Amino acid sequence: MIADRLRERIAESGPISVAAFMTQALFDPSEGFYATKDPIGAGADFITAPEISQMFGELVGLWIAQSWLDMGKPDPVQVVELGPGRGTMMSDALRACRAVPGLLPAMQVTLIEASAALKAVQAQTLGPSGAQIRWIDRLENVPAGPAIIVGNEFLDCLPLRQAIRHAGRWHERLVGLDENDANEFVFVLGPPLGVDEALIPERLREAPDNSLVELRPGDRQVVDQLAARFATQPGRALLIDYGPAHSEAGDTLQAIRAHQKVPPLQDPGTADLTARVDFESLITAAREHGLTSWGPVEQGPFLLNLGMEARAAVLSQASPGQRSVIARQVWRLTDEEQMGSLFKLVCLDSPGLAIPPGFSAD
Ligand code: SAH
Repeated sequence: MIADRLRERIAESGPISVAAFMTQALFDPSEGFYATKDPIGAGADFITAPEISQMFGELVGLWIAQSWLDMGKPDPVQVVELGPGRGTMMSDALRACRAVPGLLPAMQVTLIEASAALKAVQAQTLGPSGAQIRWIDRLENVPAGPAIIVGNEFLDCLPLRQAIRHAGRWHERLVGLDENDANEFVFVLGPPLGVDEALIPERLREAPDNSLVELRPGDRQVVDQLAARFATQPGRALLIDYGPAHSEAGDTLQAIRAHQKVPPLQDPGTADLTARVDFESLITAAREHGLTSWGPVEQGPFLLNLGMEARAAVLSQASPGQRSVIARQVWRLTDEEQMGSLFKLVCLDSPGLAIPPGFSAD
């Protein structure tokens, strides 16, 4: 079991970072939460926007199509999805893209997916689309050229570090074993962060003792990769995730199993582990790397702006028996108390492109 291997590792060489714990729990190749099964859907562990309604992926498809037009209809264009889950969003997006002459034949679709189990599900979902799909392990290895990149709930599961302010200094928060019960994982205070203190958003650096901040090395890596690519080749990325618009202190690591919150260190490998995305830090890093950034905008207004009500009306007309189901889907995706406000979108792109659809200039 993953828990046994983690216990052995900690017993041998001491407490490990939250990021190391998360990496093993989610991506251990033989037993990790994502590596071995399909956790997404109503009957599984958690549900995501594309699984709630086909309208979500269709509107992302329209966004891709408009971006392609904004970029001058490049042929070929690399269309890349980060962490495609069951492949549902891309499948719905491709259907919407079909309406735009010339787009599908120009597209080279690449999926970036760490989980072998989910790759198999994606192949099945996307088989009927007729599109040429390939899987590549890392963004750097996507062929050169103009690119449109999308990702829903990809950043939230990238392993994060946590730091705690103790006696006026920031320390890494680590995962160790309980002194009284070596079967139990517990959080312990690790060594001072040292130079990595610079990674803490400036506004939070002087927070009072016992404050906790989260550092997201994975987000920075994504920004680095986008910046490297978009510096020489036109491109646009749409990242959709949950989190506050401004950096906040606080522990947001959460575990979800069978749609219920469970303690994050309990039974690693059997629950999804995610944390809120820090959109302010993401955008600051993107700008420092020369990318243009737009947003964050909230998911509700974004989807409505792109025409979700009109799409819902068309679908309801086609299947009147589904009217209330479709209305409920709109509500779940856009209502402030549902996913409409906590979920946000940012667009990072190469300088000089038009304002991306669904975003505004301020
Ligand atoms: N976008 C999908 C799935 C979200 S779950 C949806 O909205 O339904 C997160 C997805 O990202 C899963 O497919 C997971 O396996 C994948 N993933 C997480 N970290 C990854 C990494 N470092 N590289 C590639 N895929 C990753």
